[in-house]
Amino acid sequence: MKKRVLSVLICMVLVLGSIVWLTPDTSVEAASAVKLNKKKMTMYVGDTFTLKLKNAKGDVKFSSTDKKVAKVSAKGVVTAVAEGKATIKVKNNKKTYKCKITVKEDNRYIADRIQDPVNPLPEGCGIYEIKLSGKAKDHVITDRLCYIMGEKCLILLDKDIDLPGDFVKNVDLIMTTLEEKIGLKFSDSNLFSTWKLDGPWVGIEYGKRIPIYINCDRVDGGYISYAFPTYCKILDYALISQKVWDSVPTYKDNAWRRSDYVNYETIAHELTHVLTLRYASLSSIMTEGSAEFYAKVVLEALQDKNTDFKKCYEHRVEMDTFINTVEQEIKKSNMEAIFVNDYKELSMMDRTDKYTLGCIICDYLYENYGADFMKDYINALAKAKYTYEETWGSLSEENMKDQANIFKNLFGKKVFESIATYYNKQVKQ
Ligand SMILES: [Zn+2]
Repeated sequence: MKKRVLSVLICMVLVLGSIVWLTPDTSVEAASAVKLNKKKMTMYVGDTFTLKLKNAKGDVKFSSTDKKVAKVSAKGVVTAVAEGKATIKVKNNKKTYKCKITVKEDNRYIADRIQDPVNPLPEGCGIYEIKLSGKAKDHVITDRLCYIMGEKCLILLDKDIDLPGDFVKNVDLIMTTLEEKIGLKFSDSNLFSTWKLDGPWVGIEYGKRIPIYINCDRVDGGYISYAFPTYCKILDYALISQKVWDSVPTYKDNAWRRSDYVNYETIAHELTHVLTLRYASLSSIMTEGSAEFYAKVVLEALQDKNTDFKKCYEHRVEMDTFINTVEQEIKKSNMEAIFVNDYKELSMMDRTDKYTLGCIICDYLYENYGADFMKDYINALAKAKYTYEETWGSLSEENMKDQANIFKNLFGKKVFESIATYYNKQVKQ
């Protein structure tokens, strides 16, 4: 849970880092010496930079040793053309000054160019299906936008994603386990069944499969994973190819974010959202709480399947020790009000305590009501017309009072008092 707080913080660090990174270098010059304003630089394809020979008198001539890598205009404007190395020579008064240029592929703004699968994407990407062997060791690195078909999922992939060979198998396994544990099926909801994929993925027949978009984020542009009833987007730094990882300075600065295993917990978390949202519009506490709860339940069930699942599960247990408590003191007298208050305060993006509180509520319900608690709650909400189509994910104060009553009808009149007691016991442990 704590890691979600951390990821929000790091996102801000990344954005700031990119500003610093894009600022051109400046250097202090001696008064009258003839000098080139740059002797060495790294550029990205498409970048331009104006070379200036300071204090030069007379004609200044610019040339490039390799125009295919970097070209230069008569006025000294250097344009990075393609990956490689070139030297720009600057002649003045029989003297030659040099600037060594390394051009790298532009990985910085891919996130701007590649958007969500439901939004338009650049033309000419093409549809390209890849298949995985099913064995973890057989990694595939994507060199363009492509997709993989699973049993229950359609995985849409950004370029430069490094997938272990058992990735699709594992995602299918997560989806099947989630369906078993919650008691609802992805395919039983026809929600938005008429929606089609857009961009390069237009025309792919995905049937009842859930699209999962794996995004290899560069610098900014959706640095989080998120979910809708129709699809989810996953950003996991462990899935970014080493090549891209090495080429983006801000990634290296945050090297600790890259783990040596795929974060299946995030995938289970987002897929829980997809599944529950397909049936009902939950409050934010119950949305995030159930996603935390079922990610834990799924990893617990799958931990012995392979080492990635095991590592995720162990990592998660370790994270539990950092449990961040809820801002407000929780008492028997205010628990229901906190639940209702979801319509304004807890729905805020920066409120991470809803994850903790919601997960503890789910723990309580599971222990005291049984394994069907989520299915029964979702069915009761759907019956009361709290569906995504009716609410579009936004709930008013009246709606939340109504949802609190549905909650009490199902789990008992004293359920909020009991949750407060349970919560305080858990937190003190
Ligand atoms: Zn979530």
